[in-house]
Amino acid sequence: MEVDRTFFGLFPHSEIEQANLSVDVHLEKLGNQLDCQVRLQGTIEVACDRCLGLFDLDIDFEDRVIAKLGEETDLDGDVWILGPEVHELDLSQPIFEFAHLALPTRRIHPDEADCDPDMLDRLEGPEDGNDDEEPTDPRWNALKDLK
Ligand SMILES: [Zn+2]
Repeated sequence: MEVDRTFFGLFPHSEIEQANLSVDVHLEKLGNQLDCQVRLQGTIEVACDRCLGLFDLDIDFEDRVIAKLGEETDLDGDVWILGPEVHELDLSQPIFEFAHLALPTRRIHPDEADCDPDMLDRLEGPEDGNDDEEPTDPRWNALKDLK
């Protein structure tokens, strides 16, 4: 299935707004256990940590949902228990979570040349030509760590 802006718009607290992901689900039934291998491939729009510009980050992420057939439905644990009345699996919540897990903590344009030069100038401005001087504002140090 395809997952995009419409899907993430259904979740009020989604960090992701725009994405173009194709989701493959491979379901294997082993006795009374269902093993759903979920693979997300495509792009998620994120803000670059270096220049704050938006770009499409390539994603290839795989995780699984394990469910067991049981007496009473319980979808809160690591392993879902499916009661006899369940005939459908709603994977939207795991797909939503996997998409967020797929995001690295550090998100930067893969090619620094794609970073917004004006924004980089503004962020790096106070250091230009003054490498020996301490930056006047300690917040610039925090920004330097991001590079
Ligand atoms: Zn950038």
